[in-house]
Amino acid sequence: MEIKSNKFKNFCKRYGALTLAGVFAVAIALTVALTVGASTNQVSTSNLSFQVPMNNAEIIKDYSDQKLQYNAMVNKWEIHLGIDFASPTDSSVMAVLDGEVTDVSSNSLEGNIVEITHDNGFKSVYSSLGDEVLVKEGDVVKKGDKIGEASNSAGREFDDENALHFVLMKDGVEVDPNEYLDLGNK
Ligand SMILES: [Zn+2]
Repeated sequence: MEIKSNKFKNFCKRYGALTLAGVFAVAIALTVALTVGASTNQVSTSNLSFQVPMNNAEIIKDYSDQKLQYNAMVNKWEIHLGIDFASPTDSSVMAVLDGEVTDVSSNSLEGNIVEITHDNGFKSVYSSLGDEVLVKEGDVVKKGDKIGEASNSAGREFDDENALHFVLMKDGVEVDPNEYLDLGNK
């Protein structure tokens, strides 16, 4: 009996140790899997490092999807699903990310417009460009490539100031560029 019970105790010790080892192994494997998964997600978003579309850019009208802002040109209070930029030193407008030019158009309300399609469902749209647009549909552009200059061609927003109406879209919906562009001290 004494011997048998010792054997049983030894068995329990071994079996218990194995079970514990097994639980630890599963826990470690899960932790590694979750960590790798999480960091993979982070990498895929942090790779999208947008640049600001103008040098020394100043925000002259910020994004607002709820708060109404007054637009003197049309005498209306309205939401503003983009950011208006102007620069005191350089009117150049640059692509915010690598991509392909998927539309170049023009109308009297928004002026000359360039649309660039990027990876991960992003599109950037630049309105109120001057008449000299430097890209055409189908062009592949790199982040920082100049596509045109800010002007007052968007008659519905700008009078005599040269500015850029910039829109960022994700999966077909306007998003707040403040969440993607580093506008910290701009
Ligand atoms: Zn605007």
